[in-house]
Amino acid sequence: MRIATAIVLGTTLSLAAALSAAQAQSIGASAKAGTALAAAPSGAPVAATTGCANPNALGVARTVEIDTTGGPGFGFEHFKQHDFLRPGEVVLTFDDGPWPVNTPAVLAALASHCSKATFFPIGKHSVWHPDILKQVAAGGHTIGNHTWSHVDLSKKSVDEAKDEIEKGISAVRMALGAQQAPFFRFPALKHPPELVAYLGERGVAMFSTDLDSFDFTMRKPEQVIAKVMQKLKTHGKGIVLMHDFQQATAKALPELLVQLKANGYKLVHMKAKEPLQSLAAYDAVMAKDAAVGIQTVSSRPTSAVVRSVD
Ligand SMILES: [Zn+2]
Repeated sequence: MRIATAIVLGTTLSLAAALSAAQAQSIGASAKAGTALAAAPSGAPVAATTGCANPNALGVARTVEIDTTGGPGFGFEHFKQHDFLRPGEVVLTFDDGPWPVNTPAVLAALASHCSKATFFPIGKHSVWHPDILKQVAAGGHTIGNHTWSHVDLSKKSVDEAKDEIEKGISAVRMALGAQQAPFFRFPALKHPPELVAYLGERGVAMFSTDLDSFDFTMRKPEQVIAKVMQKLKTHGKGIVLMHDFQQATAKALPELLVQLKANGYKLVHMKAKEPLQSLAAYDAVMAKDAAVGIQTVSSRPTSAVVRSVD
């Protein structure tokens, strides 16, 4: 999606360069090559509707725990490393929130099906709507990150892009009041190699997609449902990319969940083995910005801007 904003950020960061060397060392020391993906405790399949008031709920058929050490990549559109879904299994992911009305509508639809998803919120949106982000967490969903301001990182310098990533992480940390999962999705799925390496050092898993709904191009919920169901039919399974930011998607979700259930798809919920640690220097910047409010470029005193005329 495109986000137009006239907000000028109060603090410009150039900390990433200074941090990255030390970071790479400390993280690299503990990083193990490769990654492991563990299924939830096996045994009897988790009954999708256990404890769910809705007898026709999609539920959650399986929960997987992802060890993000070394920065594994998921989503066959770009990263073809880890094919963990079985035939008929679906992971739902939602980008660009949290956003009023639409995100709560997505959460309500998921809750009515006792289903869980993964959200990739934008840092700025998280700071603007922390209560909605907290609702996402309260719903038991997994929360990753989608940068501070959703810029195309391939058009930024590496240091600027690292700032975008780390500010996003600290913004979500602040809005949530807790650490997030080390799950990341690049805006527009543009993933420069230097940043793939950086996230690998940070121990952050990167998620592209198996099935891009292109819901941001659609105005009608029926279009979103038709596209997702058609692509699932073609691929047979997959990590689905949608946007809780989008109205058509929010409206589509109740019926989409019904159709997923009716067509025999099984929902898989992804969790992280360990939370992501935000960087203290960026946390401090976020806290400072929050304390003083978002700054504009104007430095004129209030007396010069506003005066009594009557
Ligand atoms: Zn996005």
